[in-house]
Amino acid sequence: MENKMQIFNTLTRKVETFVPNVDGKVNMYTCGPTVYHFAHIGNLRSYIMEDVLEKTLRYAGYDVKRVMNITDVGHLSSDADTGEDKMLKGAKREHKTVMEIAKFYTDAFFSDCAKLNIKRPDVVEPATNCIPEFIHMIEVLLEKGYAYAAGGNIYFDTSKLDDYYVFSSQTEKELMSAVRDDVEEDGNKKNKSDFVLWFTKSKFDNQELKWDSPWGVGYPGWHIECSCISIKHLGEYMDIHCGGVDNIFPHHTNEIAQSESYLGHKWCNYWFHVHHLNDKSGKMSKSKGDFLTVSLLEEKGYHPLVYRMFCLQSHYRKPLEFSYEVMDNIENSYRKLRKAIAKLDQTTEFEREKFTAYKEKFLEAVENDLNTSMALTVVYEVLKADMTDKTKYALMESFDEVLSLDLTKGELVEESGVDDELESYILEKIEERKAAKKAKDFAKADAIRDELAAKGILLEDTREGVKWKKA
Ligand code: AMP
Ligand code: ZN
Repeated sequence: MENKMQIFNTLTRKVETFVPNVDGKVNMYTCGPTVYHFAHIGNLRSYIMEDVLEKTLRYAGYDVKRVMNITDVGHLSSDADTGEDKMLKGAKREHKTVMEIAKFYTDAFFSDCAKLNIKRPDVVEPATNCIPEFIHMIEVLLEKGYAYAAGGNIYFDTSKLDDYYVFSSQTEKELMSAVRDDVEEDGNKKNKSDFVLWFTKSKFDNQELKWDSPWGVGYPGWHIECSCISIKHLGEYMDIHCGGVDNIFPHHTNEIAQSESYLGHKWCNYWFHVHHLNDKSGKMSKSKGDFLTVSLLEEKGYHPLVYRMFCLQSHYRKPLEFSYEVMDNIENSYRKLRKAIAKLDQTTEFEREKFTAYKEKFLEAVENDLNTSMALTVVYEVLKADMTDKTKYALMESFDEVLSLDLTKGELVEESGVDDELESYILEKIEERKAAKKAKDFAKADAIRDELAAKGILLEDTREGVKWKKA
């Protein structure tokens, strides 16, 4: 098939035409959550934009297979090999076992994803399911001379690679090695940039999850899981690998080092990274403790898809600052949009040519390195365009395959359980009834009350005035 998708590739630092290894098929991998806490809306920005990428590829006609891991072991509080295991930290905080914590927060993650219309990847695999595969990969790396044992742990030897800092420019590479030289680190490492593949001797004797290995009882380093899980399900050649920008170094750099040394050839062609969502005080992060979740947004009265629209309005390669003012504006436009679409008259004629032309325009926007704000502009253009309602409705259904904003699911019902139109009608009738009572026309006042009751709306006279509720 013809490849039209343009995508920024972190590996080449350029926008490139996306060409998969096998014509028409895409192998895609996503770094999944570390399930020691709720996902914050920053994490979810990454998953929303990765979802849009997957759906754009499907919309363009590719057959996509997407795999995601769940990090339930091995991610230390620093992305390098220092600090406490995040899972253990979560378990201690909540006086539960690591596996209980993992189950609870994995379920919470997928429930947030469902609220945001993020499709569940075709394969979801927790790291703790794949220990034998990790051990096998580490054995091969040792055999090939890319890894060494020291002080009881197994390390990857970065000096064996011609180009370890694959994502960086020449100057950055020099800077990075200089910076890493200053870091006080594990004395077992031959090179400062080496990283742990398997821990046996560690500072954490209280590590809850441990497995037998040829090197003693222990547990895997963080990076090995993504190399193994992706190769297990997607094979030796991958088309596109996703994550947030903080994953570029060291996580993705280490994934490439391990995978390509193990396979003996280039592994993944395109690297897609989503920039961060920040709050006023900087990057949103789980370890800060106090962070925004989807449930919190719901408690504040926002529809979760308003946050999805918030993300779609800006480009994934720009940092995005969270703001309630912007959320308020979007909530407003989102409600209006749903209402406008709900009013489209579907008994009109379908105009195929116009449908195709606008579908093409929409596809061009998303295929242009995911220009989602332009895609939203096309939505509004269609609603204003000279075409039949049926064509407009069909376009909304089609665009929603990528946007996933529930565009054709009808008008949004307010918290009160009634739509805008009925609410203004009720308020109007309450005023009329007040006037009737003032004029001592009680028969009319009662008639109004009965009419609303027949519509399922009950009135209650209270000291603060007339209140209404759904029956
Ligand atoms: P974690 O659960 O910490 O492993 O992170 C899950 C995903 O969220 C990873 O792809 C991270 O790169 C990404 N991520 C972390 N913080 C942010 C943020 N503030 N904005 C956007 N993505 C983030
Ligand atoms: Zn990963």
